Amino acid sequence: MPTNEYPAKGYAATSPDSGMAPLAFTRRGLRDDDVLIDISHCGICHSDLHAARNDWGRTTYPIVPGHEITGVVAALGEKVTRHAIGDRVAIGCMVDSCLECDSCKAGLEQYCQRGMTGTYNGKDRRDGSTTFGGYSDKIVCREEFVIKVPDAMAMADAAPLLCAGITSYSPLRHWKVGPGSRVAVAGLGGLGHMGVKFAAAMGAEVTVLSRSEDKRADALALGAKDLLLTTDKAAMKARTGYFDIVLDTIPVRHDLAPYVHLLKIDGALVIVGMIDMMPEIHTGLLLMGRRIITGSGIGGVTETQEMLDFCAEKGIRPEIETIRMDEVNTAYDRMEASDVKYRFVIDMATL
Ligand code: NAP
Ligand code: ZN
Repeated sequence: MPTNEYPAKGYAATSPDSGMAPLAFTRRGLRDDDVLIDISHCGICHSDLHAARNDWGRTTYPIVPGHEITGVVAALGEKVTRHAIGDRVAIGCMVDSCLECDSCKAGLEQYCQRGMTGTYNGKDRRDGSTTFGGYSDKIVCREEFVIKVPDAMAMADAAPLLCAGITSYSPLRHWKVGPGSRVAVAGLGGLGHMGVKFAAAMGAEVTVLSRSEDKRADALALGAKDLLLTTDKAAMKARTGYFDIVLDTIPVRHDLAPYVHLLKIDGALVIVGMIDMMPEIHTGLLLMGRRIITGSGIGGVTETQEMLDFCAEKGIRPEIETIRMDEVNTAYDRMEASDVKYRFVIDMATL
């Protein structure tokens, strides 16, 4: 039997150009397998901005974004076994999936064959309501999708790992990055800076591909060996056929050819940023070198836990700027102008 609903507050967009403003709403009462979480922090992902502004044409308003959530367990459904009141926990981009299909059984819940349920702008599998995300004081979530924050990790630091972290970690693991690998990361933002840290920690030689020469010192400090200015055609040409992997986090539609040129034989361009129609590309670039263009979406629950534990073990933390909830509109503008080093995190105590 579900318990009573919880009154909640958050920040929402009500139309593509409304900006974000306070919203009062309710969280569902606890089902048997639900956990109530008091949210302490929520990271700001570029996807939040895309969704709030309906860039993908799929937004239901009002929308409460936020899928880099950390907090403390405040109440438990009657049959919850994995979590206890007071546990430090996190939620990423998914709050549910079928848990029965081949993808889910393989720990790839993000590729659930029946479609995973997004943390915001998703449809609850049991009552059909629209899901609301982490720009909020509390959230109710099925226990299987609640991840443990390692003791050694600050809640503000853990938040960006739930999307920016796992989205860059998962493809590096899938493509078996390790000592001897040459990895390029295109776009030094939230995802990109985590990609640099992870690839360096895995033992790869890392290069940042950026439009911004003024990020060079940061790129090196994050663990990169070099930064290639993507507007410097001669520098880009000098690295033709050099990289095993290009992790492409650029958030807008762009020409892929300059990045494919950088790949060596069997190298892969892994698109994680652009969600759009594939831009035209000459197939000769793929045939001559068996190069691969592919994509990757977030990561599964088990792999997300593995990534958090990897960060705790290696002392990896995101570079964050903590903000107040009412600074979210300015943060969106700054993120769009690539003026963030390298992830905004909302301190939910300011809500
Ligand atoms: P972000 O913090 O804004 O970083 C994006 C970086 O890309 C910027 O710092 C900038 O780096 C570069 N960039 C920005 N605008 C550009 C433009 N017009 N042309 C070329 N480069 C540009 O964004 P993020 O949070 O990392 O997210 C990146 C993208 O990944 C978003 O589209 C987001 O929706 C998507 N995403 C996908 C997944 C997934 O599962 N695949 C998960 C999360 C996010 P430089 O200044 O270095 O050029
Ligand atoms: Zn995200």
